[in-house]
Amino acid sequence: MKVAELHAASWQRLQDWKSRLPHALLLSGVKGLGKLDLALAFAASLLCEDAHSDGTACGACPACQWFLKGNHPDFRLLQPEALRREEKEEGDEEEKKGRGRNADKQEEKSNRSGQEIGIEDVRALDAFLSVGTHRQKMRVILVHPAEAMNRHAANALLKALEEPPSDTLFLLVSNEPMRLLPTLRSRCQQLALSTPDAALAEKFLLEHHLSDAVTWLALAGGAPMLALRLSENAAPWRETFLKFLQQGGQLEVLSAAVTLEKELKAVKGENPLPQMVEWAQKWIIDLTLAAERLPIRFYLAQRAKIMNLSENRRPLLLLRFYRELLQLRRESAHPLNMRLFLEQFFFRYRRLFVE
Ligand SMILES: [Zn+2]
Repeated sequence: MKVAELHAASWQRLQDWKSRLPHALLLSGVKGLGKLDLALAFAASLLCEDAHSDGTACGACPACQWFLKGNHPDFRLLQPEALRREEKEEGDEEEKKGRGRNADKQEEKSNRSGQEIGIEDVRALDAFLSVGTHRQKMRVILVHPAEAMNRHAANALLKALEEPPSDTLFLLVSNEPMRLLPTLRSRCQQLALSTPDAALAEKFLLEHHLSDAVTWLALAGGAPMLALRLSENAAPWRETFLKFLQQGGQLEVLSAAVTLEKELKAVKGENPLPQMVEWAQKWIIDLTLAAERLPIRFYLAQRAKIMNLSENRRPLLLLRFYRELLQLRRESAHPLNMRLFLEQFFFRYRRLFVE
């Protein structure tokens, strides 16, 4: 299933704009909906020289070939250095998707460990914008995520939008549009994406070989790309963690911390603790819902266990623990000592069942 099908209404809206394309479009919505994929599909469809009747790119014409290889001369992708690095680490699966790697010609910068889009990135567009389009069609500049632009970069982009170059579309993608300069926002036509139809999203996930699509979709609040990402990042410690949570008052705090620490330390790359705390938060939300005799939202596969654990739980204590988790969430970004962090977490969790 193409992302255009998953977000059919939004795709139609984009197609309607094609005949009178605005200078700038802002695609917004919560994380993990597939906004970037939709924006890329739209960019490809604008550059394609032989698009399908539903507006999607053909994937075969010379323009599509370049786009898929990431070197279409009329396309630029602005994104923070950290995201580009992440893509490279993903094993350089070049054919995967055209993500405009030719936008990466500037040398490494050190803006806050590469989390920002800086003014150099926007200035680098000058040369791109000053020559005619290569294919006599149009140019697309995709900014993702737009809120990663620092103030200088945002102002430079605003300037470009005040005197918009012809045949050029600025396509901004944002998880947090309210963090953008209001003047920048107001220059854009806006399209807010919502969570896709659940049945469609499940079908989409099944096509991506995600077993247990319903569970992951629930855990991701209905956002399909987030569901995929969560499931990919899940193995193998998630099962262990959930097993310990299910033990409630029987949990052996110290040995649980030892076991989980070993598994967490085997994880390459990103610090897994914030993810762990987030899963715990969702677990507590489900426990609270169950204690109030309401349907749970996230851990559908563990429903019976959650019902069981929620018996006689006092909502007030659950709420107190949830607040403690907010604090732990902050600490989890830079834990001084993983073992202590886990012990503290499990100790507080167990207290819910023995107090
Ligand atoms: Zn094409």
